[in-house]
Amino acid sequence: MAATQRILDFLATRRPSGPCLVVDLEVVRENFHAFEKALPDSRIFYAVKANPAPEILRLLASLGSSFDTASVAEIEMALDAGATPDRISYGNTIKKERDIARAYELGIRLFAVDCVEEVEKVARAAPQARVFCRVLTDGEGAEWPLSRKFGCVPAMAVDVLRHARKLGLDAYGVSFHVGSQQCDLTAWDRALADAQRVFATLAEEGITLKMVNMGGGFPTRYLKDVPQARAYGEAIFEALRKHFGNAIPETIIEPGRGMVGNAGVIKSEVVLISKKADNDNVRWVYLDIGKFGGLAETMDEAIRYPIVTPRDGDEMAPCVLAGPTCDSADVLYEKVPYALPLTLTIGDEVLIEGTGAYTTTYSAVAFNGFEPLRSYVI
Ligand SMILES: *Cc1c(COP(=O)(O)O)cnc(C)c1O
Repeated sequence: MAATQRILDFLATRRPSGPCLVVDLEVVRENFHAFEKALPDSRIFYAVKANPAPEILRLLASLGSSFDTASVAEIEMALDAGATPDRISYGNTIKKERDIARAYELGIRLFAVDCVEEVEKVARAAPQARVFCRVLTDGEGAEWPLSRKFGCVPAMAVDVLRHARKLGLDAYGVSFHVGSQQCDLTAWDRALADAQRVFATLAEEGITLKMVNMGGGFPTRYLKDVPQARAYGEAIFEALRKHFGNAIPETIIEPGRGMVGNAGVIKSEVVLISKKADNDNVRWVYLDIGKFGGLAETMDEAIRYPIVTPRDGDEMAPCVLAGPTCDSADVLYEKVPYALPLTLTIGDEVLIEGTGAYTTTYSAVAFNGFEPLRSYVI
């Protein structure tokens, strides 16, 4: 989680001005190996959206990773990084038919669906391709739940996959995502129970599914401790055995946050410290990065990043923490104020840790003229 020595050395020697993300590839490499070790029988499809920096994609491609993509542009990035089409899935359930056709032209043969309408598109634009149907999960236990928008109830997944088969597609499996930053190890157990029911129902009709895509959700350590990859591996393997017995299907995982979150640190600067009234006891601290500069996951104060200051150790007091833009939504933490040293001063540089995932791609192009979050991958 903490900034590695390589990141600290980079910042000390390069002295980049303005807010920036620095990602240490060595940490990404360690994370990849930890996933491999924790779930040795699962293929790893890195969720490109978490951080599509070419250096990260190239490293993961060289380590043998596959890639979960959500658009033609992401497919092209994975191909450019050296992944072959058989190592790329088009995992977005919401695709234009012409994008499916383009992906098919590029060699992609594995597509996500969650309704018969999408199956129809895939059948027309990617004949005979493999499809997996995403089922809803409750997202319980996740700090960044994302399931309502994607997936269907398991009973509908049966219809969707049956329809896929009828249209000449390869009804390949079931997928789910237990919600991002999922710290409840039992979440996979509930989702795997649903997946198994879809397998069993279709098996009665002679349709043999082959794969379960267990999605992402693996956490990054922010302020609170999180279980290690090994604990996830054990819980997931137990759940697979419980629900599938000795007929465990092919499995895939799609870590995004868990692969890159702890590999990155954002360097930021204190722009202003002020109060709204003389008797206010909570200071406002304004950084040169906020919700529009890459910290979008502070929405609803969902993700609380660890912040390191040069004055840690001094007496702490709660602050409202905000970004630099002229939008009142650009407040990071207010409902639960953030404790920072009383001695913190305008111009101090702070490190926002655990920011390797979902930051660069969430930053606006030039809101208020602030440039998009710069990123260095070392
Ligand atoms: C975003 C996403 C992921 C990655 O999720 P994390 O919680 O970051 O691991 C995996 N699979 C799909 C389909 C996604 O949309």
